Amino acid sequence: MHKFYIYNTASLQKEEFRPLKKGKAGVYICGPTVYNTAHVGNFRTYILSDFLVRALEYLGYSVTEVMNITDVGHLVGDGDLGVDKIEKEAMELNTTAEKIAEKYTNEFLQDMKLLNFRMPNVMPKASEHIEEQIKIIMLLEKLGYAYKISDGVYFDTSKYKDYSKLSHKNLEELEEGARVEINKEKRNATDFALWKFSSSQMGSRLQEWKSPWGVGFPGWHIECSAMSSKYLGQPFDFHLGGEDLLFPHHTNEQAQSFCAFNKNLANYWVHGRFLNVKNSKMAKSTGNFLTLKNIMNRGFEPYALRYYYMTSHYRTPASFTWQSLEASQVGLNNLRKTLRRWRRLEKGIKVPPELDAKFIEAISDDLNFPKALAIIWGLTKDRNYKSEQKKSAVLKWDSVLGLGIAESLKSHRKRSYIPKKVRALVTKREQYRKEERFEKSDELRQRIEETGYIIEDSPSGPVVTKKGT
Ligand code: AMP
Ligand code: ZN
Repeated sequence: MHKFYIYNTASLQKEEFRPLKKGKAGVYICGPTVYNTAHVGNFRTYILSDFLVRALEYLGYSVTEVMNITDVGHLVGDGDLGVDKIEKEAMELNTTAEKIAEKYTNEFLQDMKLLNFRMPNVMPKASEHIEEQIKIIMLLEKLGYAYKISDGVYFDTSKYKDYSKLSHKNLEELEEGARVEINKEKRNATDFALWKFSSSQMGSRLQEWKSPWGVGFPGWHIECSAMSSKYLGQPFDFHLGGEDLLFPHHTNEQAQSFCAFNKNLANYWVHGRFLNVKNSKMAKSTGNFLTLKNIMNRGFEPYALRYYYMTSHYRTPASFTWQSLEASQVGLNNLRKTLRRWRRLEKGIKVPPELDAKFIEAISDDLNFPKALAIIWGLTKDRNYKSEQKKSAVLKWDSVLGLGIAESLKSHRKRSYIPKKVRALVTKREQYRKEERFEKSDELRQRIEETGYIIEDSPSGPVVTKKGT
């Protein structure tokens, strides 16, 4: 099997992957908290797991991927005080926590399908693993790592000497970060809740369970310790998430799992950098976010977004602009056009091994997808290979890229997506609207309509459709 290298946050180095079980790989990614629609920033992180899984499978590993669904216990502000994100949403809409979780889980799965994810093998829900979580807390209590105060059971971080090791920060820095919340009963600023009692913060709760300590619900971090080890064992190979999860979430997962079972939770900790908009993180809280639907409403294919994610390496921050998404859509269209021009594939055409080796080299080097794309574009101009060979290579590699190339070549019907020139008019019109130059934007609306499309402004952005559809 070809060597695979990945940057490990735990060692701050690119390391050769040594699987725990020969030929197998276990991957865990912290999944969505299902209280609202995931934005395309979130999807930059989730798709990192998809890229890793597809790359490992290409190299011949049999991969088990687990992505959890957080449907309880994640509090507003990511700390231990405040309301549960899902309960808050449910109360505001006068419905149940289960209904909110179900709605956004379905939406998330739908978006994953549209983005052509290789679906995770298991997507466990926190609310369905309460018993497993309680068991770990009981063990921590027995071993002297947990203590009870008036609002819940907490983990004593001072008892784990390597608490700050994973994040490579010093304890003072972590304490500073954790001090945003003042809970005088906690022994240390970095201590975190394992179990919270129902009555302390918000009166009666929608979701609550009995436990040896009292009725309540699990803290945010314990679910990942419980579900990852249940489905992958401990330690498992890869643990993924966005850069902000390193502390406190992953730090706390590792602390409680290590102290309960005296072994690390995972061998390779992989963190993706943010998708930014004008130098600040795309986030729900600041309102500078876009969903997959917003992007499709402006005439882009989900595949264009997928292509866009591949144009920057996961360890560099990416900056979202409509221009870069446009460039990705155009790149994808051109790739399809080029492949259509190439001769039909005869049966039995093999990918030249030295060509395949180049591609493997790129994806095995810390998932260098920008390089993999560059290899493909280089190949399109390479005269040393016959077009059938090139075609077979790109089609084979698409099992890693996931761009649905084979399928797009089969269907010769015109795509129902919005033409480039219409998208350009929409982008320009948005610019005018932002600048409050409404005469100009009305002019553009007219021009869009003259091309046979209709533009409507919804609260979440413009929606373009073909007239008569
Ligand atoms: P949250 O909904 O904030 O809990 O985030 C869910 C996942 O998306 C986590 O892995 C975050 O690290 C990740 N994430 C949040 N915002 C961004 C962003 N702007 N770019 C990339 N990943 C993000
Ligand atoms: Zn997690």
